[in-house]
Amino acid sequence: MEKADIGLIGLGVMGANLALNIAEKGFRIAVFNRTGSRTQAFVENAGKLAENIVACDSLKALAEAIEHPRPIIVMVSAGQAVDDQIAALHTLLEQDDIIIDAGNANFRDTRRRMAELAESGPRFIGMGVSGGEEGARHGPSIMVGGAQEAYRRIEPVLEAIAARHEGEACQAWLGPDGAGHFVKTIHNGIEYADMQMIAEIYGILRDGHGLSASGIAPIFAKWNEGRLNSYLIEITAAVLAKTDSGSGRPMVDVILDRAGQKGTGRWSAIEAQSLGIPATAIEAAVAARSLSATKKERERAENRFGTPAPAAGPATEEALTILEGALFAGKIVAYAQGFSVMAAASREFGWNLPLGTVARIWRAGCIIRSQFLGEIADAFDQAPETENLLLTPAFSDLIEAAHPHLRRVVARCAEAGIPVPSLAAALGHFDTIRRSRGTADLIQAQRDFFGAHGFERVDKEGTYHGDWSDT
Ligand code: NAP
Repeated sequence: MEKADIGLIGLGVMGANLALNIAEKGFRIAVFNRTGSRTQAFVENAGKLAENIVACDSLKALAEAIEHPRPIIVMVSAGQAVDDQIAALHTLLEQDDIIIDAGNANFRDTRRRMAELAESGPRFIGMGVSGGEEGARHGPSIMVGGAQEAYRRIEPVLEAIAARHEGEACQAWLGPDGAGHFVKTIHNGIEYADMQMIAEIYGILRDGHGLSASGIAPIFAKWNEGRLNSYLIEITAAVLAKTDSGSGRPMVDVILDRAGQKGTGRWSAIEAQSLGIPATAIEAAVAARSLSATKKERERAENRFGTPAPAAGPATEEALTILEGALFAGKIVAYAQGFSVMAAASREFGWNLPLGTVARIWRAGCIIRSQFLGEIADAFDQAPETENLLLTPAFSDLIEAAHPHLRRVVARCAEAGIPVPSLAAALGHFDTIRRSRGTADLIQAQRDFFGAHGFERVDKEGTYHGDWSDT
């Protein structure tokens, strides 16, 4: 039988769709799933694409079905399942074969797995795939990390299956080691902030201006035609316009206000902290999701403290312009923070991450896709040495024009008791970085006072201690 070009383990939501995408692009793919009935059902439902699919009932059969050197995508639940698959494949594969973990792995696990396999195992690639079910089926954004020559073996497949933006495939080798999974993690962290800020603006329109979901939907739809144009704004408008067929109420009103999280947002915040890079808009979004889970506690707090009544008046054109500007400014800061975290990780781990390319492969296929990412790519291309997006000429101008709107919204919300944690964090970040004289002089004095940690002076070099004994 003709050998397959590539293999795939795990026919869940992502794996099945990715396999169909690969088969559709003319590659022959061998597939295996732990639960055999799923493999059968997958092939039965593949229609004409079944011609390009080799169903395997064991990992051994999978390994034997693929052309050497054998690339095998592992698309199973992140964590122990991946380690188990690697251990099982290790005994079946040779050193020039390639295991590709395409799940949402913690990049630290990817680094560990790569190091463990480096001695005697097959080669290993950590590959972030974004775009959910639809993306996997019709074109995801693909972020690859690992040995570049191993990437070359799978590049034609990735080039064919990735999303396209103006003809350019949204896939790239971003660096060695865990670079791909790290970038995917930060992608998800930015996604958290993007979603949270949109939700905060929705909260202002709902709780401040007293608008219904169907009244808010056209506002987002209109914004989607301007500089906020993005997949997330587009689906926000669609979600808000949707009615629950059972109750006749807006769909969003029958959905419990408790959001889940699987880890990548939290990992972004943790890695930002470990690298010492502020990602406060992202951290606030992660914290907001955690707070959303404390429904009972929030109910008790509302009973105790009450919730302020709507106080913002009608949503005039002017008010909407300010809200749109605030969302745009908040988004700029969140993205700037995410890219700064990636720049710091790149330095720390020696990845040489191409920030412009990262922005470019996010322009289509992934959840945060938007025209805005094209502007980010251009900004990094034009100022390649700049790691802080806010200091690139293009984004300096954008944030300068938009931050007064953000300030107005955060101030009004503070007075009205409407929570906007991520937007407020973005504003706090902007105001902190543009003030060259901060307040850490006092922090240093305090540290020296209680712990003799020493401080630097503004007027001469060296480390000094204050004589605090007489205070
Ligand atoms: P899923 O639908 O829940 O499918 C999980 C797959 O993993 C199934 O094929 C399952 O096999 C297999 N599996 C689980 N534990 C296993 C084990 N111990 N040994 C062997 N196989 C095992 O998951 P998914 O949504 O496709 O997600 C897969 C990966 O993609 C995850 O890392 C996820 O975070 C990532 N991801 C998901 C999305 C998304 O939108 N869903 C987007 C990007 C990335 P059985 O059929 O035998 O249970």
